This record gives sequence, C-alpha cells and structure tokens, in this order.
Amino acid sequence: MPMMSSEDFTVHDDGCEAAADGMPISDLPDEVTAIDDLDCECWAEYDSLAEIE
Ligand SMILES: [Zn+2]
Repeated sequence: MPMMSSEDFTVHDDGCEAAADGMPISDLPDEVTAIDDLDCECWAEYDSLAEIE
C-alpha cells in the first residue's frame, strides 16, 4: 500500500524509511501517472503502477 510522507508529501511504498511516520493512502495522487513519477528507490521493485496496491 502506498504511504504519503507527512514531511514532504512524497509517496512511498509501505516499509520505506522515508515514509516511516506517514499515512497510508488508498489511491495514488492524480499527478502520479507513471512509475517514473515516483522518485524514491523504494519503488524500484515495481515495473508499473498497476502492480502497486
Ligand atoms: Zn520511499
């Protein structure tokens, strides 16, 4: 499940240290349209947004 960091509102996979005290979000933000829009390396294991749940 994606998590949103409470510090800078970036989106991370659960378990990522950068979102340790963030909050779970059920849907990715509208501005995220491709896996490349997610900057953190915690998304490296995913090939497409469709794999994220
Ligand atoms: Zn991350």
